[in-house]
This record gives sequence, C-alpha cells and structure tokens, in this order.
Amino acid sequence: MTATLIDGLAIAKSLRLQAAERAQACVAKGRAAGLAVVLVGNNPASQVYVRNKIKACAEVGITSRLIEKPDTLSEIELLSIIDALNRDPEIDGILVQLPLPKQLDAHRVIEAIAADKDVDGFHVSNAGALMIGRPLFQPCTPYGVMKLLESINAPIWGAHAVICGASNIVGKPMAMMLLARGATVTVCNSKTQRLQEHTRRADILVAAVGRPHMISADMVKPGAIVIDIGINRLADGRLVGDVDFASVSHVASAITPVPGGVGPMTIAMLLINTLESAERRLHLLQP
Ligand code: NAP
Repeated sequence: MTATLIDGLAIAKSLRLQAAERAQACVAKGRAAGLAVVLVGNNPASQVYVRNKIKACAEVGITSRLIEKPDTLSEIELLSIIDALNRDPEIDGILVQLPLPKQLDAHRVIEAIAADKDVDGFHVSNAGALMIGRPLFQPCTPYGVMKLLESINAPIWGAHAVICGASNIVGKPMAMMLLARGATVTVCNSKTQRLQEHTRRADILVAAVGRPHMISADMVKPGAIVIDIGINRLADGRLVGDVDFASVSHVASAITPVPGGVGPMTIAMLLINTLESAERRLHLLQP
C-alpha cells in the first residue's frame, strides 16, 4: 500500500471529544441537548444503526429518546409522533430511521419534521438551503466526508471531484458540498456510460453506490484521493466498500478504509448537528 490511510475512527473520536465539551456547555446553559430517534419496524440493520446512535449520544452527554413502533404503524400515527416532537422544547433533533415500512411515505414523513430539528439534513428546506450555499443542517455522511478531506488538507478548490452515486441523501449533497468548496464536480449514476472515463479524471473520487469493489485500480487516476462511502455485506459476512481497497491503495495518494473510514464520521456528524441545534435554541450560537 502506498496511499495514506484516512483514519475515520481516529478523526471521529476527536470530533466526539469536542462534542462532549459542547454538550457540557449546553448543560451549563440550562439543559442537555436532546435527540429523538424514531424506529419503525424491526429491520435488523436499522436496529444496529439506531443502537449505535443512541450509544454515541450517551457517550458525549446528549440525551436521547428512542421511540420504537411496530411495522404496522399508520402514517397518521407517525405524523402525530413527529408533531409532538416538533413542539417538545427538550428535543433539538429528530431522526426517523430509514427505510420505513412500505405503507409509510418517507418523503411525507421527512417533510413533517420541523426543518430546524432535521439533524439528518434530509428535509427539502435543508436540501434547498445546501444547494444555495446557506446550509442549516448538512446530511451527516457527506458532511463527514468533508471533515475527512479537511483532515488531510485535501486541495478541493479547482480540483476535479467525481462522485459515483446520486442519491438524495449521499451523492447529491456530496456534490453540493464539494461544489461550494470550489471543486469541479461530475456526478455519475446507474445510466452513466463509460464510467471509467469519468473516474479516471478525478482528483477526488467518491464512491457511494452500494456495489462491492466496483472501483478497481484501473478506474483511478494515480495520486487521486479516494473516499469510499459504500457499505456492503458479502456472503461470507465481511463488510466491504465500493472500492477494491487492496488494489486502489497502490494507485491513490490517500484512501478511506471500510470499515473505519466514512462510517464512524456519519455518527459523529449527527452528534455535531444535534449540538448545533441545541446551541441555537440555548442561544449559544447566533441563529
Ligand atoms: P442508493 O440510494 O441506492 O443510491 C445509489 C446510487 O448509485 C444511485 O444514484 C444509483 O444511480 C447509483 N448507481 C448504481 N449503480 C451505479 C453504477 N454502476 N455506476 C454509477 N452509479 C451507480 O444508495 P445510498 O443511500 O446513496 O448509499 C450508497 C452506499 O453508501 C451504500 O452502500 C450505503 O450502504 C452506503 N452508505 C454509507 C453510509 C456511511 O455512513 N458510510 C451512509 C449512507 C450510505 P441511479 O440514481 O441512476 O439509480
């Protein structure tokens, strides 16, 4: 391996230490920051994600409230839970774990969250605010990627960034954040022709597709910074990214591992967003 390893675990740990100090400052100002997590149904992956988020809150001193409901929950019932959380003065952030059971319209549910408590940054107002360069909450995964790039002083201004994946929660906000920092951005999706011609032009290559090892060494420009957002479980139980780490790490100048790269940053940024919301409410920050 010749690339520098971007250690998301270590960077997330230092962000969590900062978060713990900010959480203390909230308590000193009157109350702990509060995050409500709504989990509907019993998707095992969602249960693990939620458990990790609740644990991370406890570790830094954010109060969390877990609301678990069966997968028979109606949309009206879910909207009424969100409405109560929107009005709850002790709740600074509301997170509805996705995916939701089929009878629930995720768009309608996310739009019901007060935009100023939408710590996932998925509400249409927050997506729009990010697009015009005035973000309130930035989606946690791409926000975490920006912190990883900062940690290695990656030159973003004027760089060509290529993002494989164009979802509303990862690929598109990633593009907006890199664009806002002066990158020239190419966004690829499942219809993109000759993907390799795009990826090989990338100074910063971000993979957010959900296909194990789809980015091979011949798709990477020598010296590129490679960020692997993908999380894929193989048949043998191993967790791998979208990037073939073993070969790409000989071509890239810096690379994130999976696990231990972007994943820990996502939860760290959720804590940061929740604290920012609490600080606004407690007047520790200007609105
Ligand atoms: P998603 O909603 O399924 O979106 C996947 C995107 O990849 C879509 O835009 C799709 O294109 C595009 N795509 C599919 N095949 C492609 C191909 N051959 N070439 C180029 N683009 C292609 O997934 P997501 O929620 O964005 O998540 C992506 C990956 O990141 C998953 O592995 C997920 O588990 C992981 N993830 C990780 C974290 C973390 O904390 N590390 C957080 C969130 C997600 P179309 O738009 O044309 O369908």
